[in-house]
Order: sequence, then structure tokens, then C-alpha cells
Amino acid sequence: MAIYAANWKMNILPSQVQELVTGIVDHKLSDSDQVILCPPSVYLQEAVNLTSQSQVVIGAQNTYFEVSGAYTGEISAKMVAELGATYVIVGHSERRQLFGDNDQIINKKVLATLEASLSPIICIGETLEQRESGDFYTVLESQIVSAVSGHETVLSAADFLIAYEPVWAIGTGKVASPEQAQDVHAFIRSRLESIFNEKKISILYGGSVKPSNAGELLLQQDIDGFLVGGASLSVADFTAIMSA
Ligand code: PEP
Repeated sequence: MAIYAANWKMNILPSQVQELVTGIVDHKLSDSDQVILCPPSVYLQEAVNLTSQSQVVIGAQNTYFEVSGAYTGEISAKMVAELGATYVIVGHSERRQLFGDNDQIINKKVLATLEASLSPIICIGETLEQRESGDFYTVLESQIVSAVSGHETVLSAADFLIAYEPVWAIGTGKVASPEQAQDVHAFIRSRLESIFNEKKISILYGGSVKPSNAGELLLQQDIDGFLVGGASLSVADFTAIMSA
């Protein structure tokens, strides 16, 4: 069983949505595989409609932590849930770097997602500088703990995913080696198991995943699937990743 999540980011025009979604829906999956498409929020309803008879589910790329109110430009987890989406990406490194999503905000967004009965895909990952400093496990541990802190009980009962996305590998063409990714995934799993008392949590790898590197990464014991950016914008590439 593997999980394939697509993060379209701010890409794809309205005229291209149907072709991309149906191309993925039409790909033959094994029954235990799961596919999550995260389009820009303006396409959520269309994506929900196009996937309603399939194994593919829909997620938002970001939601605000308040339920409603005077927050111009934002959307709430409740809105996304009522549209029929099931996941929300929380704490993506681009949100952390470009939009001020800090640990405290991410913690609130995780809770808001759960309160709307959605499953968060919680992203963590170190920068190149942090990796080279040698102490990046401390960074990852702190990202995990601060995202879930105070929500352990509700998260224990919920379905949620962790995505390990080394910042230096996102959109750069530099992929973590299978060994590098496996080492970090094993570390994340052991930390999660101690926080959540043995609960089995799926951990996705993200960062320049392509058809050519997906197979080897997925062979690693603690890699349960992928969060894919660039390569998820092409039916051929994304379905090749799913077949790898
Ligand atoms: C991402 O944005 O989550 C990502 C992994 O992007 P890419 O696959 O393009 O590196």
C-alpha cells in the first residue's frame, strides 16, 4: 500500500483541471493505494466532483485556523470540509518561508483541521543550512512536537499524515538519497510512536520525486508514499510515479 499526494501549488489554469484530474482518476490503482490531489482552492469543488466515483480524494493546500469571520482572502477548514475535501496540507515549507506560518500558527491550523473533521498532512523538513550544521534532527523533532503539541489525544483518534520534505530538495531537482530519506523517516517514526503510543502513522517523502527515483525511495521500509509537487502537474509523470 502506498499514498500518493499531489501538491499542485499555484499552477494549472481552469481549462486544464479536468484533463489532469481525469487522467489520474483513469489510472489503474491497486485497491490499497491512496491518491490525494491538492489543487488550488478555486478548483476544489470541481476536483471533488470529478473524483467522486473514484479512489482519489481531494485536499486543500492551506486553510486558516479560524472558522469564520473578517479574514479577507482566507478560507476555513470547515468550508473545505463542506465542499467534500478530506485533507489539508499544513506547514508546507513555502507557507513557512513566504507566508509567515510559524510553529504556533501551524499548531493552530492542525487543530482547526481536526475540528473540521479533515486530516492534516503535516509537513516538516530542514533547510540546507540546518542539514549542514549536523543538528537537523533537533529541528525536525521540534517541528513535529510543536505541530502536535496539545492535540495528542484528538490526533490519536484521527487519520493524519506526516510529510518529510527536506527544503533543499523541494523544487530543486535534488532528491534525498533513499538512505538519507530512510534514516530520517525511521527517526520520525520512532518519535511519533513515542508521542502517540505505537499508533502507526504514514510518513510521506517529498522533494523532487520523479518517475526515475520513486521506485527506489518507496522500497525503503519507512517511506509510505510521496508528496509530489512539480511532477504531479503531468498525468504521465504522476501516474508513472504511481506505477514505479
Ligand atoms: C512540494 O512542494 O511539496 C514538493 C515536494 O515539490 P517538488 O516535488 O516539486 O520538489
